[in-house]
Amino acid sequence: MPVLVMKFGGTSVANLDRIRRAAKRVGVEVAKGYDVIVIVSAMSGETNKLVGYVDETSPLYDAREYDAVVSSGENVTAGLMALTLQEMDVPARSWQGWQVPLKTSSAHSQARIEEIPTDNINAKFGEGMRVAVVAGFQGISEEGRITTLGRGGSDTTAVAFAAAFDAERCDIYTDVDGVYTTDPRICSKARKLDKIAFEEMLELASLGAKVLQTRSVELAMRYKVKLRVLSSFEEQSDEAGTLVCDEEEIMESNVVAGVAYSRDEAKMTLLSVADRPGIASIIFGCLSDAGVNVDMIVQNISEDGRTDMTYSLPTDQVKRAETALDELKTSGGLNFAELVIDEDVSKVSVVGIGMRSQSGVAAKMFKVLSDEGVNIKVITTSEIKISVLIDRKYMELAVQALHDAFELEKAA
Ligand code: ASP
Ligand code: MG
Repeated sequence: MPVLVMKFGGTSVANLDRIRRAAKRVGVEVAKGYDVIVIVSAMSGETNKLVGYVDETSPLYDAREYDAVVSSGENVTAGLMALTLQEMDVPARSWQGWQVPLKTSSAHSQARIEEIPTDNINAKFGEGMRVAVVAGFQGISEEGRITTLGRGGSDTTAVAFAAAFDAERCDIYTDVDGVYTTDPRICSKARKLDKIAFEEMLELASLGAKVLQTRSVELAMRYKVKLRVLSSFEEQSDEAGTLVCDEEEIMESNVVAGVAYSRDEAKMTLLSVADRPGIASIIFGCLSDAGVNVDMIVQNISEDGRTDMTYSLPTDQVKRAETALDELKTSGGLNFAELVIDEDVSKVSVVGIGMRSQSGVAAKMFKVLSDEGVNIKVITTSEIKISVLIDRKYMELAVQALHDAFELEKAA
């Protein structure tokens, strides 16, 4: 029988009533003849609560125990979902990651999926079971320890299962009814997209649109998994939500597909570092060893053999970065005059595959920001995106102005 993967996010399994609603939706697909693999998140708020327990118990925690604790939220919803389906006379059982076993790397709290053997679950499907409910977000390392896949990781669990089982589609049920041109909470004109290309979705996801975990989009693109994002709160037709697909499947699209933002960014500048080969490697090697995710990087023109190096990073990694660089300086590994930190910036980006063939998008973006009196602090571009770092207080204004200027409220 064809396999369908259905993933339910935290708000879709937030209480018993919602689990029942989700289970009904699963029942509809089972009745159509699908064998269904259901991937569940923890009840909304649960993972945050568990992370809080760990932080409070042990500020410099052992990541293996962090994973043991924070993975548990999904165990509860997997069991409850299986029970709910059984109550509806749908043959179902639950699997925790290690039971599948979903094998991952040993990078605790951000493990990578390495393998999903299908024999266990397929054998059960062969025996008449119709729904395998799998706890998302978790797996098992080679050492036999429980791992987690990073926040939002159940999306990745879902796509990986869809690839492993060659599923017809991977439906991601969430609390929004699809992917929007921008965040509707800050821009009332935001429009739901019927389709979006993998590459655009990848950029939007990594730029801070929190609909899908970035890694899940990478996997979907690599394995050509048809991914659909839809709401578990509305009646569904087969066309509901947003289809994330190959760009060939999209006939018409705007030059700019969406405007994304990442609110909590910081900017750090190392003043007066030597301008010679190896310096960037020392700085960013040090930051990488400290687990800092550096994003935009700018090196200024140099004077008298010295230069300034600016980069952006998430605000919650500033302390770590600062400590690592101070230690590097103290140990004589790097000489710099001062480390300047600005923790009140946000990143705003426009994304669209149409930029590959159409020029003038950057010029228009900068004009719009200048008309609004917004100063740009750092700019980076790729083939299909332009990002700027600006003062956080202007973030919403910038998003709205760009959405207007590129007329994203109108379909192509
Ligand atoms: N429950 C996990 C989290 O909140 C994983 C997920 O829901 O995707 O990050
Ligand atoms: Mg999520």
